[in-house]
Amino acid sequence: MLDVKKIRADFPILSREVNGKPLVYLDNGASAQKPQAVIDAITTAYAHEYANVHRGLHYLSNLATEKFEGVRGIIARFLGVSDENQIVLNSGTTEGINMVAYGWAMPRMEAGDEIVLSVMEHHANIVPWHFLRERQGVRLKWVDVDATGALDPQKVIDAIGPKTKLVAVTHLSNVLGTKVDVKAITEGAHAKGVPVLVDGSQAAVHMPVNVDEIGCDFYAITGHKLYGPSGSGAIFVKQERLQEMRPFMGGGDMIREVSKDEVTYNDPPMKFEAGTPGIVQTIGLGVALEYMMGFGMEAIAAHEDSLSQYAQERLTGLNWLNVQGTTRDKAAIFSFTMDGAAHAHDISTILDKKGVAVRAGHHCAGPLMDHLGVSATCRASFAMYNTKAEVDALVDALELAHDLFG
Ligand code: PLP
Repeated sequence: MLDVKKIRADFPILSREVNGKPLVYLDNGASAQKPQAVIDAITTAYAHEYANVHRGLHYLSNLATEKFEGVRGIIARFLGVSDENQIVLNSGTTEGINMVAYGWAMPRMEAGDEIVLSVMEHHANIVPWHFLRERQGVRLKWVDVDATGALDPQKVIDAIGPKTKLVAVTHLSNVLGTKVDVKAITEGAHAKGVPVLVDGSQAAVHMPVNVDEIGCDFYAITGHKLYGPSGSGAIFVKQERLQEMRPFMGGGDMIREVSKDEVTYNDPPMKFEAGTPGIVQTIGLGVALEYMMGFGMEAIAAHEDSLSQYAQERLTGLNWLNVQGTTRDKAAIFSFTMDGAAHAHDISTILDKKGVAVRAGHHCAGPLMDHLGVSATCRASFAMYNTKAEVDALVDALELAHDLFG
């Protein structure tokens, strides 16, 4: 059982007020708040331990390198990856997926080849593939979710044809909270000889993840949703794919030697980490992951599951609220619209007056919005520090919005 009161005390921002009301922060799907341990690590790194990494021959550079490089192992442990050299450090999921699109997919795809995607992907797992469609004539094949927001793994596997070169799916929808059986998808895709990229941006926050067990080829995470700093993240790339992939960005750190006529590259993963990295951001991410692992992902997931059940009951009890995504086993992410004329932006403005922070808009999921037949929703997304009392505060604020607009 999580001691949520104690956890809340670790997050200084949670004790502030917004618009004269205690903050109820339910915009975790966009970015999570940071515990004091992460804030302290950032301050310490800049105040006492800062230098550029890798090429230094002095004390501080070696210290910064040791701390920065140590995070690779922490991420590997967090994701259940046995070989930390399969972890490429970066600024987040967007960079990770673009690296795969430019470095791995572009050189091996031609006109008529296909990429299979689910309709609930985030734009970060759509737009890089549109680049291949626009520039190389690659076809994007979309698999729909059902009326509850569930994605049938078999439908994804059935969509794989002889021209399919990649399956790219989310592990957990940032809009619906739907969990996806990426292990089954990976097994089915591999049986047809097709690699799988998993967008783990949301899943890694809310549930235990074991990438070795899933068996996928690429698994992307982003630090700022994991209670770490923005501008930090990583992508797992399976050893065979690392060998096949060409560098996406060139510059310092990713090379062994450079002359006027030639360049030789560092070994992976550094071959794919050009330029000065987000040193302090990455160190902060390491501390954030240790913080989460200190509670255990099972305990975090159990707390969030009970929040999810409670929120589902309370929100579906409001007969003027249309909650999108009703799978039973979903993460505590709720997107909704309200009967009547109220636009998602207006609802979120009323909630904000009550100190309740939610997000309104398309949530970077255009194809899913089209599938749902809406232009925007409000989204309340919970984290390990949220409480049932905050679900009640959300419902009270929604009732007020309904009284005003309904
Ligand atoms: N994928 C999913 C499912 C997300 O929710 C997000 C962020 O909202 C991203 C990808 C993109 O992450 P980032 O903007 O940190 O690169």
